[in-house]
Amino acid sequence: MDVEPNITIGSRVWVEDSSVAWVDGEVLGIRDKEADVQTSKEKKVVVSLSRLHPVDVDIPEEGVDDMTRLSYLHEPGVLHNLATRFKLNNIYTYTGNILIAVNPFQRLTSLGETHLMEQYKGAEFGQLSPHVFAIADISYRAMIDDRKSNSILVSGESGAGKTETTKLIMQYLAFIGGHAFADGRTVEQQILESNPVLEAFGNAKTVRNNNSSRFGKFVEIQFDCHGRISGAAIRTYLLERSRVCQISDPERNYHCFYLLCSAPAEELEKYNLGDPKSFHYLNQSSCYELDDMNDAEQYLATRRAMDVVGISQEEQEAIFRVVAAILHLGNIDFAKGEDTDFSVIRDDKAKFHLEMTANLLMCEANALEDALCKRVMVTPEEVIRKSLDPMGATISRDGLAKTIYSRLFEWLVDKINNSIGQDSTSQYLIGVLDIYGFESFKTNSFEQFCINYTNEKLQQHFNQHVFKMEQEQYTKEGIDWSYVKFIDNQDILDLIEKKPGGIIALLDEACMFPRSTHETFCDKIYQSFKSHKRFIRPKLSRTEFIISHYAGEVQYQADQFLDKNKDYVVTEHQDLLTSSKCPFVMSLFPPIVVETAKTSKFSSLGARFKLQLQQLMDTLNSTEPHYIRCVKPNDDLKPLIFDNVNVMQQLRSSGVIEAIRIKCAGFPTHKTFHEFLVRFGILAHNKLEGRDEKEACKFILDKVGLTGFQMGETKIFLRAGKMAELDSQLTEVL
Ligand code: ADP
Ligand code: MG
Repeated sequence: MDVEPNITIGSRVWVEDSSVAWVDGEVLGIRDKEADVQTSKEKKVVVSLSRLHPVDVDIPEEGVDDMTRLSYLHEPGVLHNLATRFKLNNIYTYTGNILIAVNPFQRLTSLGETHLMEQYKGAEFGQLSPHVFAIADISYRAMIDDRKSNSILVSGESGAGKTETTKLIMQYLAFIGGHAFADGRTVEQQILESNPVLEAFGNAKTVRNNNSSRFGKFVEIQFDCHGRISGAAIRTYLLERSRVCQISDPERNYHCFYLLCSAPAEELEKYNLGDPKSFHYLNQSSCYELDDMNDAEQYLATRRAMDVVGISQEEQEAIFRVVAAILHLGNIDFAKGEDTDFSVIRDDKAKFHLEMTANLLMCEANALEDALCKRVMVTPEEVIRKSLDPMGATISRDGLAKTIYSRLFEWLVDKINNSIGQDSTSQYLIGVLDIYGFESFKTNSFEQFCINYTNEKLQQHFNQHVFKMEQEQYTKEGIDWSYVKFIDNQDILDLIEKKPGGIIALLDEACMFPRSTHETFCDKIYQSFKSHKRFIRPKLSRTEFIISHYAGEVQYQADQFLDKNKDYVVTEHQDLLTSSKCPFVMSLFPPIVVETAKTSKFSSLGARFKLQLQQLMDTLNSTEPHYIRCVKPNDDLKPLIFDNVNVMQQLRSSGVIEAIRIKCAGFPTHKTFHEFLVRFGILAHNKLEGRDEKEACKFILDKVGLTGFQMGETKIFLRAGKMAELDSQLTEVL
């Protein structure tokens, strides 16, 4: 937004500031291209004129509920408006049709949600204050009226409130499209109760969020011709597998492990469970209990939710048996055998856990031990049985735990889908996407790479949509929009997903050659993208690379990329579990059909994810999208704190600022003729009599000699910075 603002002495302006992002001030003097500014922080600064933004003196004290009502659409204006509203507990603000939701970290509805939903039902958009329910309502109305599928895309960083927002949307859709007088298990109840089930198995406490979803989710709610919910499909993306066997203080493993450890005594006895502190997969972190979560109660609640979504008692039993088995599995330690490097089960305690695991998984303890400690290698000449050293056996054990857990999670999702049921005759659906936002940490691995790739995809979709909406507005008002441009991120997407030659393709290639290492992989991508604008090779590293994402640069550590990309189950593990006497465990590991094993030579997570993402984009592209951008006001997860710098960063990386940039590239300020006259009528020196509003506006614009505007049917469209020009004319008159 390089707006050349029309700033004069005495102007109130926003100045960039490292601690609060933007601070307001007054221009004391101007020399060449610089201004002396007295800021409200009692500081005098010299700032280049091009870095100053005019303060909107026109907005009400409580802010405006739609950013497009701001006279100046720039970063500080947007930030200030959000902060002002947040202070008054107005956590929702529109930017045109995008809803920005700031996480309040406290319950704000006093009258209860049902009351609120009643109000929003069918209310005209913009009539009530901004709310998630309003977005859900227009999606529903648009689906009914235009006979078209809609989608609501919720994004934001971890802890910003995506999942809570998603639940509100689902609650509203269940309310408006539910079966009012039905009793028993309705589809909408099942849809709502799928949330606690998936959260028990897919959420965990992290430093960013006490109830962080460790997977992405797209819920497709299907409606019949009467607009009633008739089915649903849940698709999940990229469950974080590493968490099952590796956690760091003060995070937790997946909730279900702790819930089970707080189950009623007879169940604990059955599974030989007790204190979570005694399990390696849990005691790597000293956090066991959460302030806002009672594990014992939550265990029962999860069982009840499982009832509702149609998971039978036997299945529930089997599910928790597998969860317990994973805990015991993690306690199987290895030591070096006598006179060899090969591993053996360390001691009697470890042997006990081996027995327990085998019992719970209903397989032979010996077979389990072999599957953990030995590998069979088939070469054209012979079959070699190789024993693993303790380190290798531990990796094998953790691999097994991760595989079982991710299969269990997939089973749950499938089960929920089957039991809710798909309405194959449904014509219209509303999709709700709750997916991780852009991530940039100290160390960024394959997971961040996939997550940021997702966000690039969604960003492109978002930009194209925002752009299209702008165009539609212009067309409706009869305005020429041909010179509105925006920056596309196709080049980043090509870098990542192009086939052949993109990073994912090169990674797959590397994974197929036994001799590749992360170093050879990095060499290859350094060579391939030497002159790519979005790719940077860091000076001091041979195993890292930087991608210049739309939301900023991210440095990736490639050392685990190859391992994490390989997507196969060790044959020994597969064989072990296929032969389980427990039908449930067996069903998690259906025998691999030899034919498919031969034809699909290689499967990679990257390629699979790319395909999933493409399917998601295809679905989204066939819907009318609505966007909700969630914002986390502070990293302490506390109410009432609004950290400007932090929020600014999120607005940039969520694309809100980009959307504004797209607006600014065209004619960002839209004023109805009437609004315009109220504000600038005085510039005409009382010569407006006898003219209609449009003519009156034109008269004023001609009189002050303004360029860079267009007259629409009902509004004036002004280019960026033009409002400031008019304002400075006002100052002269007054
Ligand atoms: P995300 O899914 O974006 O990681 P969540 O939706 O899990 O974040 O929200 C994190 C936490 O913030 C929630 O557990 C809840 O305590 C709080 N929170 C989020 N949205 C709201 C809301 N609308 N009202 C009250 N608290 C909220
Ligand atoms: Mg979440």
